[in-house]
Amino acid sequence: MLWQTSPAATEMEQVMFGWLRAALGLPPAFTGTIHDSATTATLSAVLTMREQALGFEGLKKGLSGMPTLRLYASAETHSSVDKAARLAGIGQDNLVKIPTDQSLSMKPGALASAIREDLAAGLRPAGVILCAGGTSVGAFDRIRECIEVAHAAGLPVHVDAAWAGSAMICPEFREMWAGIEQADSIIFNPHKWLGAQFQCAVQFLRDPTPQVKTLGLRPTYLETAGKEDVVNFNEWTVPLGRNFRALKLWFTLRAYGMEGLRARIRNHVAWANEACEALRAMPGVTITTEPRLSLFTFALADDAATEALLNRINDDGRIYLTQTRHQGRYVIRVQVGQFDCTRDDVMTIPQVVAALM
Ligand SMILES: *Cc1c(COP(=O)(O)O)cnc(C)c1O
Repeated sequence: MLWQTSPAATEMEQVMFGWLRAALGLPPAFTGTIHDSATTATLSAVLTMREQALGFEGLKKGLSGMPTLRLYASAETHSSVDKAARLAGIGQDNLVKIPTDQSLSMKPGALASAIREDLAAGLRPAGVILCAGGTSVGAFDRIRECIEVAHAAGLPVHVDAAWAGSAMICPEFREMWAGIEQADSIIFNPHKWLGAQFQCAVQFLRDPTPQVKTLGLRPTYLETAGKEDVVNFNEWTVPLGRNFRALKLWFTLRAYGMEGLRARIRNHVAWANEACEALRAMPGVTITTEPRLSLFTFALADDAATEALLNRINDDGRIYLTQTRHQGRYVIRVQVGQFDCTRDDVMTIPQVVAALM
């Protein structure tokens, strides 16, 4: 609960932040905390945006009579952003979906105009949520340009890299989120693609002060006696009692080493590309989105045929694929990321598709 109830848990979490920051190439200014899920971390970031926009008055007075707040994200962002807007009392209708360009990145110019129009209409912009590796087809916003627009308007930025963040331990992929060092908050899930056990969602914060001011309460019974300078992570997150999640990270990082983890991610990306090329070569198969890291999509001639194929694939049981809708089309998602998968496992995908088409 407090530093005092388990100094080791707190200190280990801080040490893990140092390791992860270095692993991802983030500047030393970033600190952070570990949540159960990206959803909770994004909710924490959005609650913080709400309170910053309201001068921390919402916490005291509630939201009735307060200005209408506005959040901005592209339609490629995960539904956890919609959930956060709903739960934070901002409302789905005030989450403005900014149009994307050909490569599915938020248009910085469109973001700037949306903010301008809202200000002119007497609404109050509160923050921007950017996408670094969207769930549907792996979309990346242009992080640097969008942050510049947001910061010019005085708005904080939260970046959702829940899935793709793990890949940033490999320097060659960091170009995909160039400009990330200016983000105010970043979420990535080591439980998704770094091999940590489930419920290990890491939120980096450039300055924890506004989030601690939003989520922290310190009654006398929650004081760490005689220690003013220690971190009490319960003030950074929604729950009071917390799991010792840093231990899972420590085991993972120590057991496999950064080079071991990088090798896994590089293999997943290479094998996904190989499987994609094998599918592309099959008559009747269209690659509908090119591989972004280890995620791509494909389809057959029409939606009915694609859906029927997906059902046959999953009924067959050797592999498991999911579906999404892309530019109006029903498409099949291929995503490689299971910790211990092999090249043979991944190359089963084109074999199964060929057999069941
Ligand atoms: C999986 C995912 C989430 C949600 O993660 P949880 O930890 O399950 O809440 C959010 N955003 C993206 C991009 C994801 O891939």
